[in-house]
Formats: sequence, structure tokens, C-alpha cells
Amino acid sequence: MNDQEKRPKGYRKRRSGEYICHCCKQKQEFCWSCPCGFMICKDCFEENKWGISNGPTWICPDCERIRMM
Ligand SMILES: [Zn+2]
Ligand SMILES: [Zn+2]
Repeated sequence: MNDQEKRPKGYRKRRSGEYICHCCKQKQEFCWSCPCGFMICKDCFEENKWGISNGPTWICPDCERIRMM
């Protein structure tokens, strides 16, 4: 039933939607991400902010790299 997918002209599938939050394991439109591969969605980030964020930066819980927001 899905062999003719309609796509508006000019629509290009970008790399969006490829984020998968490592906390809630959900596919997200946007995640904060780290070069090590760690990703965290906005919601989880907010929940864990107290633990991983320090103002304009946050620390990847996997590799402890300091990331700019
Ligand atoms: Zn999440
Ligand atoms: Zn990392």
C-alpha cells in the first residue's frame, strides 16, 4: 500500500529524525549529541540538567567530554 510515496516538490529528506535519545531510546527530531555517539533529547536533557549541565556547557556522561550547548 505504500509503493507510491508522495513527496512534495523540493522536499528533501535530510538527516533529521535520525537522532535516538540514549536516555529514553526514542527517535527524536533533535538531540544534543556528542562526537562519541551519545545523544540526549531535550526532554531528557531538562530532566538531567542538574547532573550534566553547567550553564552554557554540558558534560557527556559517556566520555565526559565538555560540550557547548
Ligand atoms: Zn530522551
Ligand atoms: Zn561523549
